Amino acid sequence: MQESSMRVSAGGVKLPSGELASILNQCFQCGKCSAGCPVAPEMDLLPHQLVRLAVLGRAETIIASKSIWLCLTCHTCGARCPNGIDVPTLLDPIRHQMFQQSYGDTKSPVPMFHNVFMKNVRMFGRVHELSLIGMYKMKTGTYFDDMELGMQMFKKGKIHLIPHWAASRSEVKDLFKKSSMK
Ligand code: SF4
Ligand code: SF4
Repeated sequence: MQESSMRVSAGGVKLPSGELASILNQCFQCGKCSAGCPVAPEMDLLPHQLVRLAVLGRAETIIASKSIWLCLTCHTCGARCPNGIDVPTLLDPIRHQMFQQSYGDTKSPVPMFHNVFMKNVRMFGRVHELSLIGMYKMKTGTYFDDMELGMQMFKKGKIHLIPHWAASRSEVKDLFKKSSMK
């Protein structure tokens, strides 16, 4: 009983249960996920440590980490894991709950970018870089940061003025509805 109560954070954010928890329990800490993770050098907790903390029910430690916002959802860890453990399947639901409950560090630049990125994808069915940058700058007030980089990207045709809506935009919207993301 004590262990199940430890699986919920002070903000009510829940760690995985059921089938996903069983999969996480198979982790034998080989570290292959962390060895292949492209952002591991920037992380305060490595992917295999996040998995271990989840198994131990340490929701608060995961929520307080920088790593939860640094994971790129590239799935390299899942491809390398001998037990098929994919770290984003652990982190994504936690990030989602943190936004829904405004719990933890959801206002700093990385979570803010995550938030506006998802809104942008929901809006256009794909990313429209210019409006993504605009939304992010408005949220963070960093209007003049990276101007030079932005101009270079624009000159190279990486930033389009007019959005290109994805043909499957309504399907993407449905996916957001099903996941109850705002
Ligand atoms: S690769 Fe898989 S089994 Fe190995 S530490 Fe990472 S999650 Fe655990
Ligand atoms: S999905 Fe996240 S944790 Fe896994 S390898 Fe990519 S960045 Fe690292």
